[in-house]
Amino acid sequence: MTLSRPVTTIGTNWALLPDGWHQRVEIGIDETGSICSLGPWTDAQVTHTLNVAIPGMINIHSHAFQRKLVGRTQRFTKSDDDFWSWRSGMYKDVAELTPTGQFECANALYHELLENGYTTVAEFQYAHGAEDREDLETATYMSEALMRASRSSGIRMLLLPVLYQQAGFGDRPASLDQRPFVLDTSVYLELMDHLMDVSRSEPLVTVGYAPHSLRAVGYDALSDLLDHRESKAPGSPLHIHVSEQVREVTECMLGTGMRPIEWLFRNFNVDSNWCMIHSTHASKAELDSIIQSGVTVGLCPTTEGDLGDGAFPLADFVGKGGNFAIGTDSNVCVSPAEEIRFIDYQARILSRKRNAFKFDGSLSAATRLYQKALEGGRAATGVRVGRIEIGSQADFVELLEDHPLSQNRSADEILSAYVYSAGRDLIGKVLVSGKPVVEHKS
Ligand SMILES: [Zn+2]
Repeated sequence: MTLSRPVTTIGTNWALLPDGWHQRVEIGIDETGSICSLGPWTDAQVTHTLNVAIPGMINIHSHAFQRKLVGRTQRFTKSDDDFWSWRSGMYKDVAELTPTGQFECANALYHELLENGYTTVAEFQYAHGAEDREDLETATYMSEALMRASRSSGIRMLLLPVLYQQAGFGDRPASLDQRPFVLDTSVYLELMDHLMDVSRSEPLVTVGYAPHSLRAVGYDALSDLLDHRESKAPGSPLHIHVSEQVREVTECMLGTGMRPIEWLFRNFNVDSNWCMIHSTHASKAELDSIIQSGVTVGLCPTTEGDLGDGAFPLADFVGKGGNFAIGTDSNVCVSPAEEIRFIDYQARILSRKRNAFKFDGSLSAATRLYQKALEGGRAATGVRVGRIEIGSQADFVELLEDHPLSQNRSADEILSAYVYSAGRDLIGKVLVSGKPVVEHKS
């Protein structure tokens, strides 16, 4: 089947399509970088050949500047060191961040993400560098630095400028450390208008909304943000940190009488374009609301492990039809293989079973979890990514067939070897919009 004339063709020995593995597939790509044809590959001449083609992974949650903390935050001086003490250290780095530093850090990170198999990143941008609440100029430079890093590295981006206004529930004023994050609502909405405008000429960039969390954004500001979304960009992605910490849940209950996710559902029209980041300490009733509304949970497994957040009950959630995506958050880890390995092993440890997700055995656990993370990422970015099908973006990762861990193995087993063992070592080419952005030597 062909929609428009391909300008690029790719021949693959194996390809992971939404309905499973297919052998000898030819993929046609049009001038916009979308897949326009799919069919059997009969050895016709093609622009690129790939061993095992899988859709590039979608990184649903990144704070690029936090990559600089890696290796510097693992020495503990207090027995009760936790998320909150880690956060104090992180604030010191934010205070020194400039637009140039933001670009350099993000550009280096995005190259690493691509080399490890992510082809889309959702950047949750709250390092506005604001001198005061009205500093639109610096906030604009800081966000545009991320767009430049996307263009320079070749990674696709959902840019999520963040609204952040207070230190905690009950309108607690932001601390001096938090000043770089804080913008007046009207300034924030002006920033959104500008970035949505600019993104129209950036083929890899789209823009969505991101109220930081309920502790950082009050009812009135969240209402104004949602009104703006409804009038300017209805149905666009909305991401929010929620229920990452027990203390946050307790403070929300003290301040509002409700748990955070419960409060959101009671007060706003939460739709399937929302992505709730973490949701670690959601109650059963809150998880039911998430599942019923089609909201995606944005898990950040290695960061949640690093910060000692707690364990999300993923196997049960998936069993009931819940959608999840994966993110690198603090960027302590930049490999989708490691994130998926972590969620599977965590579920196995908690259930004391190997088939923790009760998969049916027609495909490996790696393939199933990889596909579920792709579907969640596609839903939560609102971008046609994560599938090898006509109309989707041609963003692929090639897994090599001539690595010692892939010889004499099926495509399904090669993806398992990538997830449970080899990671980046199994990656050959990475393509975004049908163009190679990474070419590891086999
Ligand atoms: Zn985060």
